[in-house]
Amino acid sequence: RRAVPRPTETRVFVVANQKGGVGKTTSTVNVAAALAQLGQKVLVIDLDPQGNASTALNIEHRRGVPSTYDLLVDGAMLADVTTPCPDVPGLDVVPATIDLAGAEIELVSVVAREGRLRRAVHGHPLVGDESIGEERYDYVLIDCPPSLGLLTLNALVAGDEMMIPIQAEYYALEGLGQLLETVDMVRAHLNPELAVSTILITMYDARTRLAAGVADEVREHFGDQVLQTAIPRSVRVSEAPSYAQTVMTYDPGSPGALSYFEAAREIATKGVRP
Ligand code: ADP
Ligand code: MG
Repeated sequence: RRAVPRPTETRVFVVANQKGGVGKTTSTVNVAAALAQLGQKVLVIDLDPQGNASTALNIEHRRGVPSTYDLLVDGAMLADVTTPCPDVPGLDVVPATIDLAGAEIELVSVVAREGRLRRAVHGHPLVGDESIGEERYDYVLIDCPPSLGLLTLNALVAGDEMMIPIQAEYYALEGLGQLLETVDMVRAHLNPELAVSTILITMYDARTRLAAGVADEVREHFGDQVLQTAIPRSVRVSEAPSYAQTVMTYDPGSPGALSYFEAAREIATKGVRP
């Protein structure tokens, strides 16, 4: 498989959509694994207390393991809470434990509480430009919880780009207005660099007119931001996490894996920081 060029600077992606079940976690772990298979150095930060991304990447996330909670609440260093994914070379993970569920409340009285994650990510010695050398992270992907609370806000402040997964279902666009308003607010006050660079259509069922209609509507709305590759609905994709795997390792030849591979290739070649 042909590798893609590394970006000139670490690209930090926020994977967000306050709707649950649209494919945020699935897309985070599979795009991350695919990018790693394309020769990129990748870090996944699990920012959902459920820890689904940690599970899919085969990373222990019981209470007490070093996690995003330590990063946000205790000011731990990113490097001290990062673990390599045992199954995917080039992929590192910061797991989330259930402790993170309390972070929204624990952070309320903390100064600059919305900038905690940004400080951790941008303070990491392997995040930055080419001067860092081979070990540098090419991509950081942050898997957000299904809400627009303080955790997602931390991600939006930390990121350069957003990847918004949209499920090809009825009501797919519902709630997107609120998400984009939040992004505008973050851009105006906290992170002017944040770009909605990537929309990914997920759980696409080519047999239904509904899915085609939703995809058309999304492309009409967002144009070039929408990846050409849509991720098909596939049982293999949904089975993989129960084996603590991504579909990229669970069934690399399946349509879901091939689509995530193409989506990752598009992201990597589509340009750096639009
Ligand atoms: P989110 O993180 O946005 O809540 P998930 O990634 O957890 O969403 O996906 C929600 C559910 O849909 C999960 O059970 C997941 O396995 C399943 N799923 C995601 N993408 C696909 C797909 N392409 N085909 C089939 N099932 C999928
Ligand atoms: Mg999720």
